[in-house]
Amino acid sequence: MAIPQNFIQELLARADVVEIVGRYVQLKKTGANFSGLCPFHGEKTPSFTVSPSKQFFHCFGCGKNGNAIGFLMDYAGMNFVEAVKDLAGQYGMQVPEEDIPRPNARAWPNRSRSRRR
Ligand SMILES: [Zn+2]
Repeated sequence: MAIPQNFIQELLARADVVEIVGRYVQLKKTGANFSGLCPFHGEKTPSFTVSPSKQFFHCFGCGKNGNAIGFLMDYAGMNFVEAVKDLAGQYGMQVPEEDIPRPNARAWPNRSRSRRR
């Protein structure tokens, strides 16, 4: 199954990485960016930063970085498709799946409702 690249772009444009990461990590605004304790390695002083302008997160401690989809994959353990669907669901977007069309989907004739009088 493939998800069209332009949908990914649109999704990332709509998703806010600060909001996504903020679901799991307590972030504090520091200047233009947000920072918090890195969820990928144990630490006591925040070296994990999220940039709303770049829509990117980066940890100076362990080097983890990525975008909103990457965060869901790395942190929540989702695969790419799951992460895309999770994000799409949150922003009310329908994921256009380019998989093999189900031949039976429209083959069923509309059965007349049994309850009809
Ligand atoms: Zn880290």
